[in-house]
Amino acid sequence: MKTTSEIRREFLDFFRDKGHTIVPSAPLVPANDPTLLFTNSGMVQFKNVFLGSEKPGYVRAADVQRCLRAGGKHNDLDQVGYTARHHTFFEMLGNWSFGDYFKKDAIAWAWELLTQVWKLPPERLVVTIYQTDDEAFDIWHNDIGLPPERIIRIGDNKGAPFASDNFWQMADTGPCGPCTEIFYDHGDHIAGGLPGSPDEDGDRYIEIWNNVFMQFDRQPDGTLVPLPAPCVDTGMGLERLAAVLQGVHGNYEIDLFRHLVAKAGEFTSTADLDNKSLRVIADHIRACSFLIVDGVLPSNEGRGYVLRRIIRRALRHGWMLGQKQPFFHRMVEPLIEAMGDAYPELTQKREFVERALLAEEERFAETLDAGMRIFDEVAARSGEVIPGVDAFRLYDTYGFPVDLTADIARERGLTVDMAGFDEAMARQRETARASGKFANATTLPAELAAQLPPTQFLGYDRIREEGLQVLA
Ligand code: ATP
Ligand code: MG
Ligand code: MG
Ligand code: MG
Repeated sequence: MKTTSEIRREFLDFFRDKGHTIVPSAPLVPANDPTLLFTNSGMVQFKNVFLGSEKPGYVRAADVQRCLRAGGKHNDLDQVGYTARHHTFFEMLGNWSFGDYFKKDAIAWAWELLTQVWKLPPERLVVTIYQTDDEAFDIWHNDIGLPPERIIRIGDNKGAPFASDNFWQMADTGPCGPCTEIFYDHGDHIAGGLPGSPDEDGDRYIEIWNNVFMQFDRQPDGTLVPLPAPCVDTGMGLERLAAVLQGVHGNYEIDLFRHLVAKAGEFTSTADLDNKSLRVIADHIRACSFLIVDGVLPSNEGRGYVLRRIIRRALRHGWMLGQKQPFFHRMVEPLIEAMGDAYPELTQKREFVERALLAEEERFAETLDAGMRIFDEVAARSGEVIPGVDAFRLYDTYGFPVDLTADIARERGLTVDMAGFDEAMARQRETARASGKFANATTLPAELAAQLPPTQFLGYDRIREEGLQVLA
């Protein structure tokens, strides 16, 4: 069986052979973009290159980028544990052309890597193109030889949740262009329809690789002006690809995750390794550890609050499995076993990460039990919707982020009155302001801060250097 580590390496080897410079992963906290919460795709560190304000010393690059989709525009937190293919933290394999090669080479190389190097059966692969992109159609049909029924034209999703969208744009203006995406058919024993069909959100056809062709510069008036030097930006989910290459359906069944799930089972005394909570814990330890490595600490605002929300979700899953003692920080060791070779910064900061997680575990342990009792009482008396005031009480007094409450509710077929929650929050802010107090919910709790060494944010350059050593 091909391990996830081997797949990472083979991807980079393939594109190195095609003249690409191997670039290390940037941190999860974007260095060059304060408007973006987290690095959510490989292109983030190249944004200024696409915009033309930065010139790297190469025109072709490839990398393995750590990504987080747990806040902001991309948020897959609520999918984790419900689909076979979504994580909060994942690794994105990418290859780039900065004004060099374009559609023909990008598609030919993607196909070569998948079907010749990795020997995927071509009949299992289906692709989508943008509805008007006849150039991409011709390449897939005439050069590659795909039959027309496996080249699906997709439009803009117009905001429909989950629907495919094959036109990419960086912002309302600026670089943009059509995509072509490659899907793997896991077989008709799994529910889900072809991309673009009404039941495309199933897990039968899983999207593995997105190739974006930046060929236009959108003007403020909406018109599309061709870019003088079109670019290619691709992203392939390592975990989804590993599932395909290891002959399993779900991401949680790959080597890397099997190890984490088994350890989560051990630390929570859970024998059934298919238990959904173990998968959530395995997912969340990656997100939380890498966030801390990249300089984020649990807090009540911004990035720190996203981290706190993810940690607390993991702890609640442990609690459901009957584990009332701190366990989550113990997951750092198996994580290092699984990923320490590719990310040495994880090993270097092990103790720091463990301490930060343990501090948050101890803190939430003080209110988790009582909060769960309150939730049960509220659920028993309130029918299908948890009232906003109760969700707010859970937040304010018991430290339950509202998305955690919503997640618990969802498991029981209930929902939370979010508008009511927002109202209760606004009321409290108003009261605090009127009495001249500041809501104390915006700073890192003193006792937690005291337990932690100062944030040691490894500079971008240092991570680059360290990454280069690993990849060399
Ligand atoms: P999906 O439609 O399955 O949610 P996406 O279209 O949002 O995926 P892209 O933004 O195109 O994904 O990202 C490029 C690739 O990154 C995807 O083809 C997929 O392989 C991978 N990927 C995206 N989101 C996730 C995730 N949450 N967990 C794991 N891999 C992901
Ligand atoms: Mg998505
Ligand atoms: Mg998609
Ligand atoms: Mg996509």
